[in-house]
Amino acid sequence: MTTLLLSHPACLNHATPAGHPERADRLRAVKEVLSEERFNALVRSEAPEGSLDLVTLCHNEDYVTELRHIAPDQGLIYLDGDTSMSPGTWEAVMRGVGGAVKATEAVMNGEHSNAFVAVRPPGHHAETARPMGFCFFDNAAIAARHAQRKYGIARAAIVDFDVHHGNGTQEIFWSDKSVMYCSTHQMPLFPGTGATGERGEHDTIVNAPLASEDGGAQFRAAFERRILPHLEKFAPEFLIISAGFDAHYRDPLASLNLKAEDFGWVTRKLMDLADRSAGGRIVSVLEGGYDLQGLKESVAAHVTALMG
Ligand SMILES: [Zn+2]
Repeated sequence: MTTLLLSHPACLNHATPAGHPERADRLRAVKEVLSEERFNALVRSEAPEGSLDLVTLCHNEDYVTELRHIAPDQGLIYLDGDTSMSPGTWEAVMRGVGGAVKATEAVMNGEHSNAFVAVRPPGHHAETARPMGFCFFDNAAIAARHAQRKYGIARAAIVDFDVHHGNGTQEIFWSDKSVMYCSTHQMPLFPGTGATGERGEHDTIVNAPLASEDGGAQFRAAFERRILPHLEKFAPEFLIISAGFDAHYRDPLASLNLKAEDFGWVTRKLMDLADRSAGGRIVSVLEGGYDLQGLKESVAAHVTALMG
């Protein structure tokens, strides 16, 4: 069985202001490392554009319509201090949605054992009706709801190891007991949510915050002592990874000290878990990661693990 890699050149056309960490070079770096010979076994395909019907699985219709019409014909429009739209943003965002959905279908249909969706902008800060923190639509959340609607998945889980808390994913599933959301993240740090006591209406939100300067040992302990036992008990039938690599020690936006091998380790742990309850079905969607070297090493370790 194979690993599917989905991406699209249109994701390079979401322009951000000079000096912004969430830039097209991130995706170029990912593409560069995944074109090395050791990744020849990946099955590569283009991410299609998602539809509005998919986006509204998780986002408010008025918000989606407004965002669609707000994209400028030239230059940039700021939605908040660090989230802006350029003429290429809408297509890039919709390729992200379409990529996450196509990956879900390929894995649910049994065409591939798992998939990595290399797209930008990221998604996990986008709430039901609000863009935030470089994000517009929550690709991972949409993949979960799509798997439920199209394939009757009763329990899906989203595991988010981006260094920032996925406030958007948490908000979307706060009252939904059919989707478990688990996150490790640095705290305090943007966006400020993600305390251990935030557990959702049905105890299906599992936050495991880490402290500044924590490294691989604390990260692994958070998974072994807190996140993996909760996931094991929940027994998801489909697993989605919000794969952010900004907890890498080189990353400029945070101060955790993970190494590439820690991302490989957590990926293998999640694969073991998915093998037990989800028939191995995993879709991983790129979130953050802002140091190009750290991003390349970490994506390489993550995808190597996915390829088995
Ligand atoms: Zn992040």
